[in-house]
Amino acid sequence: MPSVPRFAGYLLDLDGTVYLSGVALPGAVAAIQQLRAEGRRVLFVSNNPTHTPAEYAARLTRLGIAVPEAAILNSAQVLIEWLDQQQPGARVYAIGEAPLQHGLDAAGFVRATDPRATDVVVASFDREFSYRKLQFAFDALRAGARLIATNGDRYCPVPGGGEPDAAAIIAAISACTGIACEQIVGKPSPIMARAALARIGLEPAACLMVGDRLETDVAMGRGAGMATALTLTGATSRAEALRTPDAADFCIDTLADLVR
Ligand SMILES: [Mg+2]
Repeated sequence: MPSVPRFAGYLLDLDGTVYLSGVALPGAVAAIQQLRAEGRRVLFVSNNPTHTPAEYAARLTRLGIAVPEAAILNSAQVLIEWLDQQQPGARVYAIGEAPLQHGLDAAGFVRATDPRATDVVVASFDREFSYRKLQFAFDALRAGARLIATNGDRYCPVPGGGEPDAAAIIAAISACTGIACEQIVGKPSPIMARAALARIGLEPAACLMVGDRLETDVAMGRGAGMATALTLTGATSRAEALRTPDAADFCIDTLADLVR
């Protein structure tokens, strides 16, 4: 395996890359500390919309990586920024967890309470998804609402398995309405890539995108013109990585390989 050169900026996925369920993955903390000590910019870029940036920053700080909220970008923030440009003040029905809803509230969107008076349905990772929520989305879309989503991940890795993620919610809504999701803003979308590059303040060629998923992390980096590293600490097995050896520029066992 070729060693990984140093980059000015690092975009690091969180779940399955830095930690699993809040427990640091081997080598991750020391590698990130070293990159930051060398003056390299590190931005954490997650599709997971179930926590606020403050919660992510607190979690990383507990693990020994003291970061401000501005070092975190997740799909809920990107969706809120994007929708604020598209349709500010829209009446939104969000199928998602509290941090997404609170973010929408804070940005001035109106909580939709009538499917016939709903501009946008947001599909997201929601561990309290229900038939009632599906019915609202069904009625709203049939009355003309747009369908957008924070992220398209099939599942979120947790120790020993995974939790069904936003792809399942999008699929349920699309299955009963026949309406495809208009926009998924999370990785691998260029919307997320643009937001991340703006936040880190570097050109794509100066950045390495590091993550555990080919179809989100690596695909976004590739699409945006960044170098990419696939880590085998999460959703992608060694066997899967070997089947597509050219999928990422680098394949690493853990984040420790970034500073070897
Ligand atoms: Mg991941």
